[in-house]
Amino acid sequence: MKTIALIAHDRKKDLMLDFVKTHAAILSRHNLIATATTGRIIKEHTDLAVTAYLSGPLGGDQQIGAQIATGQVQLVIFLRDPLTAQPHEPDITALLRVCDVHDVPVATNAACGHLLLSTLA
Ligand code: PGA
Repeated sequence: MKTIALIAHDRKKDLMLDFVKTHAAILSRHNLIATATTGRIIKEHTDLAVTAYLSGPLGGDQQIGAQIATGQVQLVIFLRDPLTAQPHEPDITALLRVCDVHDVPVATNAACGHLLLSTLA
């Protein structure tokens, strides 16, 4: 069982919901963590169990980043919005950086996410 982190910026939350519904069978076999709003939306609309941390702008990216740095997260689906400025841009950069530092696969768009999850099928 892997721990998979799910994070979606506001304009990508509908996309994230479609994504997790598409992959619900695979995701249900793993430990899921998420930032607050992303996690709440997934829990409200699916039967998936998700541990939710703080909202991204309030430090959730950093909480998940710390888990990545300590080897507790094996895969990250981070549907970020490249067209909208985010108040926590430094945290986003840090999250992507820590994935690269620790060689943790991270998808920043749904197409890559589909490819990554297909490896777990
Ligand atoms: P959220 O955080 O899931 O609480 O919206 C994600 C983000 O915007 O970084």
